Amino acid sequence: MLTPVDFDEAPFLVIWEVTRSCGLACRHCRAEAIDLRHPDELTLDEGKALLDDIVRMGTPIVVLTGGDPLQREDLELLIAYGKQIGLRMATIPAATPRLTRDRVTSLRDVELNQMALSLDGCTAQKHDDFRRVEGSFEKTMEAAAWARELGVPLQINTVLGEWNYDDFDALAELVQSLGIVFWEVFFLVPTGRGSELQGCSAEQFENLFGRLHQLSQDVSFVVKVTEAPHYRRFVSQQQNGDETAGGKKQSSTHPGGHHGHGHGGALTVTRQGVNAGKGFCFVDHVGEVHPSGFLPIITDNVRATSIIDTYRQSPIFKELRNPDLLKGRCGQCEFRMNCGGSRARAFALTGDYLAEDPCCSYIPEGSL
Ligand code: SF4
Ligand code: SF4
Repeated sequence: MLTPVDFDEAPFLVIWEVTRSCGLACRHCRAEAIDLRHPDELTLDEGKALLDDIVRMGTPIVVLTGGDPLQREDLELLIAYGKQIGLRMATIPAATPRLTRDRVTSLRDVELNQMALSLDGCTAQKHDDFRRVEGSFEKTMEAAAWARELGVPLQINTVLGEWNYDDFDALAELVQSLGIVFWEVFFLVPTGRGSELQGCSAEQFENLFGRLHQLSQDVSFVVKVTEAPHYRRFVSQQQNGDETAGGKKQSSTHPGGHHGHGHGGALTVTRQGVNAGKGFCFVDHVGEVHPSGFLPIITDNVRATSIIDTYRQSPIFKELRNPDLLKGRCGQCEFRMNCGGSRARAFALTGDYLAEDPCCSYIPEGSL
């Protein structure tokens, strides 16, 4: 178990987009990734300096994302360096021909803590249609088998929205067959190419929360929900009864207990209320620092200012960590300290990162 992190001092995890280059063309891609690498990507030495700062800040986990991180030949060097200085390192390769058994072996050899693969459709056709490259599903299944064979802890990432809402049960069944340690379920934030897609309605969120909560009690892997902090409100309501602190809930609820955290996986989750800029920080391929990859506001660049100073001192980060600045229902909500709504979704749908999350059905007392 990791020591709790003071979110005013450091994020629980930093996601670093090591490149924006990618051979896929997914319909929801926040990065609007293209095949070519950017000439100004952070170099190996700049990346090591960034990892040094992340350790100094007190952050325990770094995820190397993309684009496709496998486009960088020095990916293993970055992972090895992070491990050497005490970080837990994960990465999210894209399912393209670059993802080979040899490459998974080399990730294993530098003791990668966790490898995440994306799976968004319950059939090859649905997945490939979403990722817009034929054979992506098959490659994902192949790579999952290599991870199992080579002993690399495997995570599956799934994006949920209106288009695959009805497939949730089939997706969950498929995911359970893959021998994973961690299922990260992302709720669509309509940004980048994803702004063309329809996310879940508030009622669909509640329904999926119930199913995810039930699943988390039935399986041995971690079920983590991303870009839906009101899942924490949902779980809290389940634990305390449906009428929490006098508030009303519009949609149906499901019975349940604790969110499933305990298992022997390589990474871990925190019970603290992580949100954009609050326990979380994103560094893009050219070093720009954002509160989240789904909240495309640039606060500074690691080439100009240490990530430590940006995270602790940037007015945007400080605002995002202050729940008393939240507006609308989120500002009046007794769950705002631990939930606060998706700041990225509020920004994507309203242009104001402090606005209420429009995809929460909860009505706090006094806001009617
Ligand atoms: S794999 Fe990731 S980076 Fe590549 S196109 Fe898909 S969403 Fe974008
Ligand atoms: S109203 Fe806002 S803070 Fe309250 S539970 Fe919903 S999203 Fe969270």
